[in-house]
Amino acid sequence: MIVQIKKDITSDEQQQIFEVISQAGYSPKLIKTQLAGYIIGTGTGGFDIRRIGSLSGVSDIHRVTDAFKLVSRMWKVKDTAIDLGNGLSIGRDAFTIMAGPCAVEGPSQTLKTAIHLQDNGLRIMRGGVFKPRSSPYSFRGAGMEGLKEMAEICHKHEIKIVTEVMELSQIDQMYDYVDIFQVGARNSQNFNLLDALGKVDKPVLLKRGMSGTIDELLQSAEYIFSGGNEKIILCERGIRTHEHAYRNTLDLNAVPILKEKSHLPVIVDPSHGIGIRRFVEPMALAAVMAGADGIILEVHHSPEKAFSDGQQTLSFEEAKKLYLKANQTYQFLKNL
Ligand code: PEP
Ligand code: MN
Repeated sequence: MIVQIKKDITSDEQQQIFEVISQAGYSPKLIKTQLAGYIIGTGTGGFDIRRIGSLSGVSDIHRVTDAFKLVSRMWKVKDTAIDLGNGLSIGRDAFTIMAGPCAVEGPSQTLKTAIHLQDNGLRIMRGGVFKPRSSPYSFRGAGMEGLKEMAEICHKHEIKIVTEVMELSQIDQMYDYVDIFQVGARNSQNFNLLDALGKVDKPVLLKRGMSGTIDELLQSAEYIFSGGNEKIILCERGIRTHEHAYRNTLDLNAVPILKEKSHLPVIVDPSHGIGIRRFVEPMALAAVMAGADGIILEVHHSPEKAFSDGQQTLSFEEAKKLYLKANQTYQFLKNL
């Protein structure tokens, strides 16, 4: 169960709610986020919803049987919109395109990308400075210095930054330079990292693990939410299957399922999802048709020279065509 509590709840009222929940055989846990307060009751069996609902200090109560609760549609029917400030938000009535290189390579690349984004009306740049690479000999990112340079350029061009955080100790260092913390596929179930991001007052873009199920992704999101951070964006980026004709199997089935199960925005990463440049466009458009709230794309001024993932990275010209088509597809879907 989820009990939403009033902002001005007293400790006596809270104590009383805890007692009644415990008497019903449920374990109560208090959760405070940036936006609200909740008491989550976990357990099985029935309880009298009116008995708890009528206690003072309670503003609402919901029966939620999902393993994940606060991210579930079972209590919050309306789509969540994540406010990024400056009139920018993700989810609900917005369609968002984020684009940028796989890895941040240096100021000249960032500047070219910023101008490209601005010319095309995009307001969020992706780009990793801490790169999870399968081989330790591959380029592993420009680190904090790269992020600081990226932030300076993006700030001047009024572009927000989404970039991957790989470990706990990076959160504080990165905080001032990041608008959205990305949790990569490899860290999708790094529960310590998720806990720590629950304490952060900035949105988190949470990618699905390579072999993660939809429910596991939602439970990972629940870690962040129940840690105190409601600002979560889910990302389908392909899963590993027996199929080897492409890098990953982009599971677009996940989009409508996630949107039905959760009120959080869902975006799709077709670049990593298929891993082949010429097929990024059709899969991006398919993601829009599947109901995604946005897409995240790898783009580069010269993909052949990209330090990483060039094979799935669009040139600026290719990307420009896709932005137009994706926005048109979104409008088409809305008007159907
Ligand atoms: C990325 O987006 O830079 C990335 C490494 O993706 P993923 O975690 O989905 O592999
Ligand atoms: Mn990449």
